[in-house]
Amino acid sequence: MTAAVLSGRELAAAIRAETTELAAKLAAQGRPVRLAVVSATDDGASAWYVRSIAGAAAKCGLVCDVVDLGPQATTTEVHDTLRRLSDDPQVHGVILQTPLPAGAALEDLASAIAPEKDVDGANPLSLGRLAAGLPAFAPATAEAVVRLLEHHEVELSGRHAVVVGRSTVVGKPAAHLLLDRDATVTVCHSRTADLASVTRTADVLVAAVGRAGLLTADHVREGAVVIDVGTNPTPDGGLAGDVDPAAAERAGGLTPVPGGVGPVTTALLLRHTVQAAEG
Ligand code: NAP
Repeated sequence: MTAAVLSGRELAAAIRAETTELAAKLAAQGRPVRLAVVSATDDGASAWYVRSIAGAAAKCGLVCDVVDLGPQATTTEVHDTLRRLSDDPQVHGVILQTPLPAGAALEDLASAIAPEKDVDGANPLSLGRLAAGLPAFAPATAEAVVRLLEHHEVELSGRHAVVVGRSTVVGKPAAHLLLDRDATVTVCHSRTADLASVTRTADVLVAAVGRAGLLTADHVREGAVVIDVGTNPTPDGGLAGDVDPAAAERAGGLTPVPGGVGPVTTALLLRHTVQAAEG
């Protein structure tokens, strides 16, 4: 079997089209939608990502302010900036870019983002509400996982979903969103014993680890749907997923990297920002 390619580009384009239309309506009412991205790093990959968000925002008619505090910023400066933006009625969405300055914890700093502007679900309150089944912005990447599965009409109810990775930005929220869709969910991590024996029981396998090619064909059940969240830089300047491309010979469907989860994530960040602006 060769896996169907579960592209994210078509879904991302549809989300961007909807976002553009809604943003234009708000702008026509004198309420331009504004996203603020706070960065405190000189990491090259992060700078590339911020530029791609800003570019996508502009194309959808959103104003995107990049607040670059530089790698020497103190946690107090980052915290105060997030609070100021959260208090600014002209700003509808606030994102805190990683990596953070040494010694700063994302969960601590993200608490300074007002939950109603927390369009990337970084504030622990957002994750708590998500876990409790209450309305909240989910981290865009985690939501992209389930939106992609729905877009490609993958049945989730009653199926076994295995998520590899338990970060607060991807693994845990993805597990909650899958649970909300009535999947039976198992979450694996670095201490999981005999990972392959667990992942081979998955109907739907989500890889969110950050290790290129960690999941091989041996980790995949014949016909399983595999969502590859990993974005690992390659020496030639490209991106590799967490799933070895050879796994496509066993999977029923596999998301490409790039072109799978990534574009949907960016589109959802903008969609969330418009939703925040609508109030
Ligand atoms: P993270 O915070 O580093 O978390 C990685 C998770 O993988 C941890 O839970 C870790 O387990 C687990 N893990 C590490 N080694 C493992 C192993 N050998 N076997 C099983 N589990 C293992 O990473 P993240 O922020 O969740 O990101 C994961 C990947 O997604 C990265 O490649 C990142 O670049 C990518 N990403 C993509 C997007 C996108 O838009 N496409 C957005 C965000 C992130 P422990 O908890 O036990 O340490």
